[in-house]
Amino acid sequence: MESVLTMTQLNDFLFCPRSLYYSGIYRNGSAPEFYHQTPQITGSLAHEAIDEGRYSDRRQVLCGIMVFCEKYGLLGRIDVFDVASGILTERKYSVSAVYDGFRLQLYAQYFALTEMGFSVKKMRLHSRKDNKNYTVDLPVSRDIDFFEETLRRIREWSAEDPFENPNPQKCAKCIYAPLCEYA
Ligand code: SF4
Repeated sequence: MESVLTMTQLNDFLFCPRSLYYSGIYRNGSAPEFYHQTPQITGSLAHEAIDEGRYSDRRQVLCGIMVFCEKYGLLGRIDVFDVASGILTERKYSVSAVYDGFRLQLYAQYFALTEMGFSVKKMRLHSRKDNKNYTVDLPVSRDIDFFEETLRRIREWSAEDPFENPNPQKCAKCIYAPLCEYA
């Protein structure tokens, strides 16, 4: 069986492949308060109510449940899935655009829920900061190809791979910058 990845690694990898290396260090050795800076803390708070099951107690709404997609070997958490309407929502503190990483993270949740027998009809990103929703279309063939190709690249990625082009704008927003030799 292929190595198990987390769904957030899709977003991390597309943001910057090096972040996979640093996220591994943090996950293995540090308390969240050590490395979570302001944007990440607010992002965590956006998830807190959901993780604690406070977002909704309606029976037809799944909140903060862990899921595993066997087909792709992906582990992750569903923010909000309304079983009756089939609407899957990923809440983030601030969304300004539907970046590929966000999109693939939702695809991963979609595939896990579908495998479990749920019918996902719509997907969206919710930005808590300004209360906006962004629709993400259900994946079609070319999206699935991109999703699978990204998983393959993550599984083949090594911290020893050459990395020559850090993006200063991303580094300025990256939680791993204090540790990263490329920042
Ligand atoms: S600081 Fe820059 S190069 Fe380093 S992981 Fe973050 S985005 Fe990538």
